[in-house]
Amino acid sequence: MLFSNFFAPTSKEIPAEAKIVSHRLMLRSGMISRTASGIYSWLPLGVRVLDKISKIICEEQDKIGANRVCFSTIQPADLWIESGRYDAYGKEMLRLKDRKDGDFLYSPTNEEQATDVFRRYVKSYRELPTFLYQINWKFRDEIRPRFGVMRGREFLMKDGYSFDADFESAKRTYEKVFKSYMTIFRRIGLTPVPVRADSGAIGGNMSHEFQILADSGESTLYYEKKLLSASDDELMNLFAVSEEKYDPASAVGKELSVSKGIEAGHIFCFGTKYSKSMNAFVLNEKGEKIFPEMGSYGIGISRLAAAVIEAFHDDRGIIWPEAAAPFDVTVLNLNTKNERCVNATSEIYKALSSGKEVLCDDRDISVGEKLADADLIGIPHQIIIGPQKAAVGTVELKNRRTGEIREMSSDEVIGRFLN
Ligand code: ATP
Ligand code: MG
Repeated sequence: MLFSNFFAPTSKEIPAEAKIVSHRLMLRSGMISRTASGIYSWLPLGVRVLDKISKIICEEQDKIGANRVCFSTIQPADLWIESGRYDAYGKEMLRLKDRKDGDFLYSPTNEEQATDVFRRYVKSYRELPTFLYQINWKFRDEIRPRFGVMRGREFLMKDGYSFDADFESAKRTYEKVFKSYMTIFRRIGLTPVPVRADSGAIGGNMSHEFQILADSGESTLYYEKKLLSASDDELMNLFAVSEEKYDPASAVGKELSVSKGIEAGHIFCFGTKYSKSMNAFVLNEKGEKIFPEMGSYGIGISRLAAAVIEAFHDDRGIIWPEAAAPFDVTVLNLNTKNERCVNATSEIYKALSSGKEVLCDDRDISVGEKLADADLIGIPHQIIIGPQKAAVGTVELKNRRTGEIREMSSDEVIGRFLN
């Protein structure tokens, strides 16, 4: 991608409305643009990050047998009247009327729809477990949208719904999702802390939140120190709770850490609440009706994009971990009028584009602006091509995180990324 052709409206201005660093950097780097309170448009850099995170999620969910679907974002109110949640959900739900005066809503979550799809098609216990997931926009009319996309009203979520024949099987599914979530967050480069959660309005018997450690987080966490180095099997049983659930008695004798966290994911196992209320059953081997044990599993993808920035930034801008970065590498031509620079840039850009996602800054702007934008946008590797080095046949490779700069030939830099 040539920057001259790329829509990334970067800015030096510090947006007054942005209280936390991720919100400021997302606006300044041109990732998002505000539409209304808690509602944002995602610009190319932002979309690329959402796509990177989504791809990791899909790979890991597919591995555990989840099937990707895409539910409609608009649902008929009838489904929620059936489950009994239509009135209970309250003002967070955006309610809509169609031209025939029918009642609809914009999905705040999709348990009802998943249960509806399930009951139409799955008839026998032999087809269980069934596991559907989607990546789709949600709307919740939050009382206090804030911190940009961190607590938005419209946001992107991965949500999954599982149906098992009995509790033991549902528990196995839950454990698989738990491990899959830990892998997802670690692959993105984050340190997740799974905490036992309150199952809230959804009601149920097992629930974990996945918190990402960050000073700007809205949750206060107490967790055993050894949690950060525990194996996946140990993790589910270690002590980790949020402030609301903290009970000093149960923490006696444990070496605890206290940190602020951002809730990036939330999983529940809630039994037959929806399968029963919506009459979603299958027949067992004796031909008797059984109501599947359900679970639901969410990851806030747009919130996660912001959480990554909270975890990885410095005074100059974002420092993307490779797995979530909008591009793998950026090539900066510091002098677009210098023939050697132009040639080296074009050679490196062409070669790298065969195997990597490359943003090539070919804009005719000052060196200072170009370097500042590269640090602001935060692509992990910068290949800097200036006239002096180009004259002796070398370029500089800068690591955005460490700031380390190494001088090398064009061939060497190409080899580093393609091998
Ligand atoms: P919170 O306690 O932060 O309101 P929640 O318990 O309402 O979250 P869930 O219904 O479990 O959230 O949704 C799954 C995930 O969706 C959350 O873990 C979070 O990452 C994300 N999420 C929820 N609400 C928002 C929001 N308003 N803006 C952005 N992401 C959100
Ligand atoms: Mg909420």
